[in-house]
Amino acid sequence: MPTSREYARWRNRMVDEQLVKRGINDRRVVDAMRVMPRHQFVPEEFKAQAYEDRPLPIGEGQTISQPYMVAFMTERLRLKPHHTVLEIGTGSGYQTAILCHLTHYVYSVERVTRLADHAGERIGDLGYNNLDIHVGDGSQGLPDQAAFDRIMVTAAAPWLPNVLCSQLSKHGGQMILPIGDEHLQELTLITRRGERFTSRTLLRCRFVPLIGRFGFDSDINSQPNIF
Ligand code: SAH
Repeated sequence: MPTSREYARWRNRMVDEQLVKRGINDRRVVDAMRVMPRHQFVPEEFKAQAYEDRPLPIGEGQTISQPYMVAFMTERLRLKPHHTVLEIGTGSGYQTAILCHLTHYVYSVERVTRLADHAGERIGDLGYNNLDIHVGDGSQGLPDQAAFDRIMVTAAAPWLPNVLCSQLSKHGGQMILPIGDEHLQELTLITRRGERFTSRTLLRCRFVPLIGRFGFDSDINSQPNIF
């Protein structure tokens, strides 16, 4: 069993080589990635690989995203400490914990009850209590809690869900999400000003599918994400 010092050493190397060298330079994001113990969010048998440059299985056919993808999406959202964030696809809870570290409050939605419960426990154990995890279909957002300063979707959507756009703050609200088919998507950044929405594609990526009313059907074959 690696010691916590060893994990910290691997984590620092991960940040330097996989993130900073590839252009992640937002100080707050880099600091959050340096402190968050990713090994605590992966199953026992994958702990030794927790700081490698790839996604890992977390059970239920789902994955914890690659560290670079977590850092990239977080950086692009330009999070401020006062922001309220909606995350769709809690999964392991690792990205959720990073959001809790950087913002005022996080609502996260996960469709698999077991993953949501497990993620909530881990994040609570780390001392964060500025979050609310919901079990359900996140493709519909959380209309009762809207508007959100930021929305992050960590599962692939077949198209841009209007219902999520409408839950963005009118004052520069931003959403980041992968849009495409089940094999390949484009990471897309949406910005809202009043009733005007602008869209920018950032990079190609591969996430597990968003399954729900405004996502894919539940009989789709789950593919592991490669980012
Ligand atoms: N950010 C997570 C990524 C998990 S993979 C991590 O790094 O651990 C994507 C997650 O989205 C899976 O846990 C999957 O169950 C969930 N998901 C898929 N469709 C969903 C939906 N409609 N609502 C909520 N969660 C969904």
